[in-house]
Amino acid sequence: MPKQFAVIGLGRFGSSVARTLTELGHEVLAIDSDEDRIQEALPYVTHAVQADATDEEALKALGIRNFDVVVVAIGADIQASILATLILKELGVPHIVVKAQNHRHGQVLYKIGADEVVFPERDMGVRVARHLVSPNILDYIELADDYSIAEVVASDNMDGKTLRELDIRAKFGCNVLAIKSGTRINIAPRADDVIRSGDILVVVGRNDDLRRLQDKA
Ligand code: ADP
Repeated sequence: MPKQFAVIGLGRFGSSVARTLTELGHEVLAIDSDEDRIQEALPYVTHAVQADATDEEALKALGIRNFDVVVVAIGADIQASILATLILKELGVPHIVVKAQNHRHGQVLYKIGADEVVFPERDMGVRVARHLVSPNILDYIELADDYSIAEVVASDNMDGKTLRELDIRAKFGCNVLAIKSGTRINIAPRADDVIRSGDILVVVGRNDDLRRLQDKA
């Protein structure tokens, strides 16, 4: 069953969350104190309502406790973001995700019961920096502090070689989970599968091993 989401604060981040959730087929209630933001959101969300998220009665009247997930994307106004989170927690919202402005703000949000705190600018900065340093890593997912899944682009060095010849597991301690070649994807790579330059290897490993691999890739 699709989940019911509410997004509070329709700045660049909140509106992007609300729009994507709608595109993924979910019901989204968008809330902002600014009427212009509501007008902008109306075409792409299920419902958009003008309300002040620091007003407990207003949130109650919207039935906010019936939503599975509420995203608080209030930007610069840290006080309003904290107060809204506190009210949502007290009203019993099952899952509260909040955008933090900085580390301290994030700490406070966790203390008052936010289930997830996100730092979009910080995280995007990390991604951009990593991509600048390692252009042949297209994307990665951090699994734990030291481990990630990365998409590594195969260079000419790998062209025509089989996974057995490349011996990635022994040389780099990494596992190739899948190989993407154009639109085809091989999710059960075998030792004798041949890699072509430009293929994308989806690899799991320790971050330093992944870095060694991408230097050689
Ligand atoms: P971003 O950095 O994601 O663009 P902004 O600071 O531009 O974020 O946007 C935050 C949004 O949150 C604005 O549209 C603003 O009107 C809204 N907002 C701020 N305070 C409240 C509040 N108390 N209740 C509801 N919406 C709020």
